[in-house]
Amino acid sequence: MGGTFDPIHHGHLVAASEVASFFHLDEVVFVPTGEPWQKEGTNVSPAEHRYLMTVIATASNPDFTVSRADIERPGKTYTIDTLRDLAEEYPGAELFFITGADALAQILSWKDSEELFELAQFIGVTRPGYELSEHGLPADRVHLQEVPAMAISSTDCRARVQAGEPVWYLVPDGVVQYINKHRLYADAPAPGAPGA
Ligand code: ATP
Ligand code: MG
Repeated sequence: MGGTFDPIHHGHLVAASEVASFFHLDEVVFVPTGEPWQKEGTNVSPAEHRYLMTVIATASNPDFTVSRADIERPGKTYTIDTLRDLAEEYPGAELFFITGADALAQILSWKDSEELFELAQFIGVTRPGYELSEHGLPADRVHLQEVPAMAISSTDCRARVQAGEPVWYLVPDGVVQYINKHRLYADAPAPGAPGA
């Protein structure tokens, strides 16, 4: 499952759990993206924070793991590279790439899409309010999965922290504590924090 995970929240976790159950997956590997956009001026938290929050959020589930593949590869994250790395790390595995249905259309419009379909099947999870549209993609390689209504987004979580509002129960407890400890999403980064 690819994502920025800034921060990871219960929407991501429910989506992963639902897809794992529906598609009988042995393992869900969460792959936080690299941090290319920082250079372009938008505010994505340092990869190490996003990685550690993802580890904290998934630690108790024996079927969930976290991969550093994207954060250790220099440059912008392309799904094709993620899948090549995972295919190498899990030889012979049948791979499914899980992401939001919003992101999926964009990924599959790329020029490499034929190789993408060779490497994996794609599962787009839909958020409440997202309309399933005709996607015109190969039906045997692309699936859409509705997940229970979880109107949670990382953007909203960051805005809440910034405004001093609670994120308890939107993100796992350990992630609330990690955000507070490192003063993420507040104005000034904590001294000594990675990337501070
Ligand atoms: P942001 O608000 O910063 O865009 P996000 O909440 O969309 O963050 P991402 O890290 O971008 O989180 O999420 C990875 C994928 O998970 C995205 O493709 C997104 O569509 C999907 N996703 C995020 N939140 C939910 C949710 N509540 N239910 C289902 N899918 C979700
Ligand atoms: Mg998003």
